[in-house]
Parts: sequence; C-alpha cells; structure tokens
Amino acid sequence: MKIDHLINGKPVSGSDYFETVNPATQEVLAEVASGGEAEVHAAVAAAKEAFPKWAGMPAPQRAKLIRKLGDLIAANVPAIAQTETDDCGQVIAQTGKQLVPRAADNFYYFAEMCTRVDGHTYPTETHLNYTLFHPVGVCALISPWNVPFMTATWKVAPCLAFGNTAVLKMSELSPLTAARLGELALEAGIPPGVLNLVHGYGKDAGEPLVAHPDVRAISFTGSTATGNRIVKSAGLKKFSMELGGKSPFVIFEDANLDRALDAAVFMIFSNNGERCTAGSRILVQKSIYADFAAKFAERARRVRVGDPLDEKTIVGPMISQAHLAKVRSYIELGPKEGATLLCGGLGAPDLPERVRKGNYVLPTVFADVDNRMKIAQDEIFGPVACLIPFDDEADAIRLANDIQYGLSSYVWTENIGRAHRVAAAVEAGMCFVNSQNVRDLRQPFGGTKASGTGREGGTWSYEVFCEPKNIAVSM
Ligand code: NAD
Repeated sequence: MKIDHLINGKPVSGSDYFETVNPATQEVLAEVASGGEAEVHAAVAAAKEAFPKWAGMPAPQRAKLIRKLGDLIAANVPAIAQTETDDCGQVIAQTGKQLVPRAADNFYYFAEMCTRVDGHTYPTETHLNYTLFHPVGVCALISPWNVPFMTATWKVAPCLAFGNTAVLKMSELSPLTAARLGELALEAGIPPGVLNLVHGYGKDAGEPLVAHPDVRAISFTGSTATGNRIVKSAGLKKFSMELGGKSPFVIFEDANLDRALDAAVFMIFSNNGERCTAGSRILVQKSIYADFAAKFAERARRVRVGDPLDEKTIVGPMISQAHLAKVRSYIELGPKEGATLLCGGLGAPDLPERVRKGNYVLPTVFADVDNRMKIAQDEIFGPVACLIPFDDEADAIRLANDIQYGLSSYVWTENIGRAHRVAAAVEAGMCFVNSQNVRDLRQPFGGTKASGTGREGGTWSYEVFCEPKNIAVSM
C-alpha cells in the first residue's frame, strides 16, 4: 500500500517514501510519502488559498460539514481502530472503545461550539468596547505517535470549526489513520485545501512547516526537546505546546486504597505506558508504603501483555525498536541507581506466536525510588512505575514539584481540606482528585513548566485558533 500527501484535496506522491511498520509484528504496513520543503510550500499555499472562503462560510454551514466528518468517523470505528492498533501498537480495547469514538466526539463538540462563539463587552462612559473572535489563518498541526488519531482530531476539529485551514503533519511512526481522516474530510464535503496533510520526518517536513511565514499558528504535541526546537525556528507565531510529562500520583494514608491501586495501575500501564499524562511517579505516604508496594506489584504482575488485537491485552508493543531500547535502558538503569525491582525487568514476556517479534517490554515496578534518580526525573514513556515514599503533606508537595515537568497530577485522600490544598499547590496544568485522568472537552488541557504553554479544550482553544479583536466605538 502507498500513502501519499493530501494537498488541495488531491493525493500528491512523494519524491521519496518511508515505511511504516507494525510494532507488534514488524510487518511493513505501507510506504508513506516523505515530504520536504516543496510539499510543505504547496500545502501551505493550498491552505492559504482555501482560507477566505472557509473562514467566510456561515458557522452553521461549517458546523454541518464538521458534524458530518464526526458521523463518518463514528461509522468507521472498527476499521480505523484496527489501522490505529496495527500502526502504533495501542491495544484494540483502547482504540476501538475509547480513542476512535472520542475522535468523533471531538468533531461533534467543536461543530456545536463554533456556532456559539461569543465575545465580551466592556462599556465605559465614553466607549463601547466589544470583542470579536476571528480565525487566525493557516495553522500547522503537528502530532506525535502515541495516540495519533485522537490527537490529530483534537487539533483538526477546533482548528477547522473556528474557520482556519490546516496543514497536518503526523509522526512518521504512525501516519496511517490521519491519512484516512483526510479522505473522510473530503467525503464529508469539507472543501479541498481546508485540511492538507504532509507526511514525513520532523527535520524534513516539520521544520519548514513551522518556519513557513504564511503559517500563523502552531498546535504542537510532542516531546519537550522538539517543542523547544520549534519555538526557536518558528519565530513570531501563536503557539500551543503540549509537551512531555512525569506526573506525580500522590497517595495519602487515608486514601481509599483499593480505588487508588486500580487507578494507579491504569494510569501507568494503560496505553502501553506511552501516555503523556501517565502517573509515572507514584508518591506513597510512608505509613502505607510497604502495603501499597506489595499490592501494586501483585496487580502489575497480572497486567496482561500480548497481541494488541486481543481485547484482553492491556500492554501492547512499544512503538519502535529505538523506543523499546530507550525504555529498556531505564529498566537497566533503575537497580544501578539503587531502586528495588519489584516486578518486570528485562526478561521476555510470554507472547502469542503472531507477535513474538514485537517490541515488547514487561510492566515494571521500581520501589524505594529517590526522586533525584534519573528513572524518577526522565520521561520514560513506557510501562515503568516508580514508587517513592513520602513523610507528610509538605514532603509530598515538595517531591511532586521537584521535577522539570508540570502536565498532570493525581491526589488520593479522603481529607477534603488536604485534597484542595495539595491540588492547589502542585505545579501542573491539571489535577485529578481521587480519580484517574478523565477528559472533559470543556476543560483546559495542557501543562506548565517544561510540559508546555497554552491550553486547548472548550473556549481555551480560542487561545491558539482564534484571534481576538477589540472594537471600541465612541459614544
Ligand atoms: P517528538 O517530539 O519526537 O515528535 C512529535 C512530532 O514532531 C512528530 O510528528 C515529529 O515528526 C515532529 N517533529 C520532530 N522534530 C521536529 C522539528 N524540528 N520541527 C517540527 N516538527 C518536528 O515526540 P514523539 O516521540 O512523537 O511523542 C512523544 C512525546 O509526546 C512525549 O514526550 C509525550 O509526553 C508527548 N505527548 C504530549 C502530549 C500532551 O498533550 N502534552 C500528548 C501526547 C504526547
């Protein structure tokens, strides 16, 4: 199978192609066009030309097309989910029941919202000030490989709904479902040029895209290192930067331990541990630490590793052999830094025949981790949990914040005052109290510190995808 760029509604072949590989089987799934400056220029030009008409279309009409795209996704969930699972290794229980259906919801939500954009009024004795929210223009949307379809739609839906046009660049490791999104957008009646796709590597396709002078806004999800590079090469543009994380999952002695255990297991092992909001630093109060560690390791040993197409599998393959090597290097490092390996490690999981060549790693738990260790400070982005003991509330807050990242956080306690205090004190864009990560499309999603700038979701998406204008009328 060959996957081409999508520029101005037409497939455009590449001067070069790269292979996208199934991480569970190493089977080549497709040859994908590898774009560079020429394709980026053509895609930005198409988006620029399509912009005035799309931006000028009455919002209810735009909303109708966007809703239709949601319907087409909803009608194709099983096929898209299977492609996503094949391309990026996320297990079918997640792609089929959660991630792809949520992608359809993204379009329904922003279709509704774009018909209700309102402004503010600031009347004074001399002037009536009011705001308008205009679309920005051509937006560069850049996505990582971990939940590619969901992330792409999370960007495309608000971008298009608010009247912008887009050039989408997916990760070179998982481009297939976005290619399908481009086809479905055309089928939904979204005009050619409104959504363009350029495939390729970050350096060849991503760099010229973010640096392009006709690109007005960048919505980027990916690593902190790449985010830093983009900010430097892009120049003066609007940004939303959704970057890495190493989120604290704080459990106090008065927590409901069974629920906390379930959520802790879910937040580090689901999505293969390749999750930006993973609760990868599990901070546990000393009085319950030994009990928690034993129970957590016991549950981790039961986490099923296997074929991502099997509905019962929790942990599928890592996205690539390079990423597998990275995750394994941290598992090797843990004991050298003085952490205690409670379960997992470098052994091979017992796998069904079909996926024996896959990029697998065992769900791994390290206890007695010191927050200064590299395994506690670096984003491993795999199924590796670090258990860190703490003394009291102040110690928990200190440890939670002693990290470069600030994306998500989790607090478990039955003490309502403490819950509010810790939630307020933790340096993170999001805090979930007595809960795993749950997504409400109205909530501001994003992080602080090295986890990024800007927020997306609900009206927070205006920040990157709309240009507010103040109009002051003399009275
Ligand atoms: P990455 O930074 O390597 O790549 C992300 C995207 O950027 C890819 O499409 C890549 O091709 C492109 N890219 C690379 N170099 C570029 C450049 N110089 N200019 C423009 N584009 C460039 O990240 P990844 O390994 O694909 O994804 C994993 C990372 O993403 C993790 O750090 C994870 O935490 C983060 N992530 C964050 C969120 C969030 O919402 N905060 C969500 C998912 C993933």
